[in-house]
Amino acid sequence: MTSYDYQLFVIGGGSGGVRAARIASGLGARVAIAENFRYGGTCVIRGCVPKKLLVYAAHFAEDFVDAQGFGWTVPPREFSWPALIAAKDKEITRLSGLYENNLVGSKVTVMHGAASVVDAHTVALNGQHISAEHILIATGGTPFVPQIPGIEHAITSNEVFDLPQLPRRVLIVGGGYIAVEFAGILNGLGAQVTLCYRGEQVLRGFDDDVRAHLSEEMVKKGIAVLLHQDVARIDKRTDGSLSVALTGAQASNHAVDAVLYATGRVPNTESLGLAEAGVVLDQAGGVVVNAFGQSSVPSIHAVGDVTNRIALTPVAIREGAALATTLFGPSPVSADLTTVPSAVFSQPPIGTVGLTEAQALAKHGEIDIYRSKFRNMRHTLSGRDERTLVKLIVDSASQRVLGAHMVGADAAEIIQGLAIAIRMGATKADFDATVALHPSAAEEFVTLREKTTRKKSD
Ligand code: NDP
Repeated sequence: MTSYDYQLFVIGGGSGGVRAARIASGLGARVAIAENFRYGGTCVIRGCVPKKLLVYAAHFAEDFVDAQGFGWTVPPREFSWPALIAAKDKEITRLSGLYENNLVGSKVTVMHGAASVVDAHTVALNGQHISAEHILIATGGTPFVPQIPGIEHAITSNEVFDLPQLPRRVLIVGGGYIAVEFAGILNGLGAQVTLCYRGEQVLRGFDDDVRAHLSEEMVKKGIAVLLHQDVARIDKRTDGSLSVALTGAQASNHAVDAVLYATGRVPNTESLGLAEAGVVLDQAGGVVVNAFGQSSVPSIHAVGDVTNRIALTPVAIREGAALATTLFGPSPVSADLTTVPSAVFSQPPIGTVGLTEAQALAKHGEIDIYRSKFRNMRHTLSGRDERTLVKLIVDSASQRVLGAHMVGADAAEIIQGLAIAIRMGATKADFDATVALHPSAAEEFVTLREKTTRKKSD
């Protein structure tokens, strides 16, 4: 029998890779992991975690104003971006250290450096060759930016977390998760924000009511949302500011201090030697894998964003755990990714699980829609003109709830619980039979008595 240095060598110390390494080691395998930046990956270092901290920071702007409706006198406020970034950095350093310590505690050999694949059972790292029975690619993704003139003046989500100062005027390009999240963050912290999206409405793929509702609320908060517009070029002016030329119906020039590109992400597979080792990649460079995370080379596997499927941390974690169990556990396991809930930490936030109205109609033919828009109790005294949207999509024939969507405070917290009910096959009658929790926004989901509409596909 061939003896390898390790039974599993993981390339990439993000959510998926770390989970796979720890579980494999717990199952008795000899495991090593290599990371070329900082342990924790995109989510911990420059994604979910620092983003959510910045969302909290931004929300204080509204909280101070709203407090006055509740009898508080709020003294003049001042915000320090460097202080926020320093506090965020401290927390990220703590978390990254925790990731590394947990690996060591799980008896995984932790390495630093850019590893690459030499062949089906060999990786190269820092000038050495290391053999492994299995290799796991968990290298995540990286921001994609279109090559337009002046793109070198733009930043991405990689840089935005470490800017030395908060830019006064920002143009954000894109209409996806990162674009709307940073529009809310930067606007809340005091920047003048313009979001420029090439399509007809932000958040393509989300429920249309959700998209329209968020867009309206963003505009109410002072964000300029430009639709059907794209960037032709970016020029740097002598004073250091940027001039952005937009194409589209109302072609115009915008003077800003920063341009943030949030135009999607691509799998991190460059310089990994995968194609040379015979691993099939898709058009975007993602590793093509089967339901068990195995690539076209049987000893090479992949999980998470690098597979170019659902780019969400909890999904990568599930895939990592399933892969480790498949390789070293009692029997093969594939990650169950039915009804994956998702949140967009925009302001207000979005929580969503299950099918959109359009998807449900296409799949089920006849659906009942229940929808409510209301003002949260908090805003009766704050006076803020912010509305919450809740929406349920129900299969007319079986009465199963197919999708639940919300735009409003705490949407992520509320939808996580509903995801359990929907995954278990709850019907509208189950929702109706559940006693409301009063007073809350969440209770709207169990008090939606009147059907808004019934729709049939053509
Ligand atoms: P998204 O895929 O969500 O959005 C990309 C946006 O950029 C779309 O609006 C897209 O437009 C636009 N776009 C793409 N290419 C171009 C181009 N060449 N010119 C102009 N616009 C373009 O990507 P993000 O970068 O926002 O986020 C990446 C992924 O990370 C998300 O899809 C999500 O999976 C994950 N993520 C999850 C978060 C969460 O769970 N809260 C937070 C942040 C990221 P169009 O719609 O027309 O294609």
